[in-house]
Amino acid sequence: MTTVGILGGGQLARMLALSGAPLGLRFLVLDSIADACAGQFVPMVVGDYRDEAALAEFASRVDVATFDFENVPAESAQWLAERIPVFPNPRALAVAQDRLAEKSLFRELGIPVPEFADIATRADLDTAVASIGIPAILKTRRLGYDGKGQFRIKALVDVAAAWESLGTQAGTVGLILEAFVPFQRELSVIAVRGRDGEFRTWPITENWHEHGILAASLAPAEVELALTQSAIAHARRVAEALDYVGVFALELFLKDGLLMANEMAPRVHNSGHWTIEGAETSQFQNHLRAVLGLPLGSTRMVGRACMLNWIGQLPAEKPVLDAACGHWHDYGKSSREGRKVGHATFRADTAEELADALECVGRELSREAQVAPVVARLRA
Ligand code: AMP
Repeated sequence: MTTVGILGGGQLARMLALSGAPLGLRFLVLDSIADACAGQFVPMVVGDYRDEAALAEFASRVDVATFDFENVPAESAQWLAERIPVFPNPRALAVAQDRLAEKSLFRELGIPVPEFADIATRADLDTAVASIGIPAILKTRRLGYDGKGQFRIKALVDVAAAWESLGTQAGTVGLILEAFVPFQRELSVIAVRGRDGEFRTWPITENWHEHGILAASLAPAEVELALTQSAIAHARRVAEALDYVGVFALELFLKDGLLMANEMAPRVHNSGHWTIEGAETSQFQNHLRAVLGLPLGSTRMVGRACMLNWIGQLPAEKPVLDAACGHWHDYGKSSREGRKVGHATFRADTAEELADALECVGRELSREAQVAPVVARLRA
């Protein structure tokens, strides 16, 4: 019996465990929060990622370890990797945790990125604003997610406020200034690489965010073949450079026909949740297959799929989702503003059918704004 250890016990760990059950796998989660939602049906070790006793207990009970949470301290990942197999490897995790390191890697690999600069002092910020220009975004290098730890500089007068808001973090998590990209579309490549180097991607996904948090994903994204090929080539280069094993997401901006890399997530990703119902093999199961050294499953999708995120609280009207053939995912979390509490995936054979279903869901659940851009894309 194989036990997979997961650092972090959120919804990603929960969905990994669900997808691994048919493979006969057991799971163990390490999380500092006792009521982490994966813990509702996965055994847990409750402890801090830096707590060596908790890490030692975790290591003694699992055959292999992986992550639901990318901000596990690099030293903890390294400590584990010296004792048990850990995938993705700690170096890949460390690069993906740091916006400066990941953007530098993308640039080295010839993948276009928005202009960026490392910011350690207020003077650095002034110099970078002068060279990169405005609008720009000041971001923390580490520990930022879902639009947190970011300040948009829309005019010169905002520079002081940006420094006021994030400057104190320059010496801790570090800061980076990025050019603001007035992109037309946001895309992601969900990719998987096996222990033997086999590399696969699911069809490219288009994403829409609200307040920096993913609101909707549509697959396959309607993009030209040449762009798809280039997105896949970018993802493959990153995976090979990091000797990456497992699933990761490469987030891309599309502007005037050019793809630019925003960031990578070294784990299964929210924009790949549609693969549970929309693909032969989900991102969750292929991640497990990869880290266990099993053959990867097919990433082919059938028809089209759209995932809608439920942020803050679940919609009350579940029956309407059943009527629209929605696949419901409730993460078992309590409601809280900005918290991802669930999602639903809608699948259809044609763009028209999917647009009709989404319109119905939007209307019935008062989510018109959330579905509108997806419906517009499907009807274009
Ligand atoms: P991130 O945490 O970097 O993924 O940022 C969250 C969201 O903010 C992205 O998905 C974009 O919608 C937006 N964003 C981040 N960086 C930029 C940028 N350089 N230019 C334009 N929009 C951005």
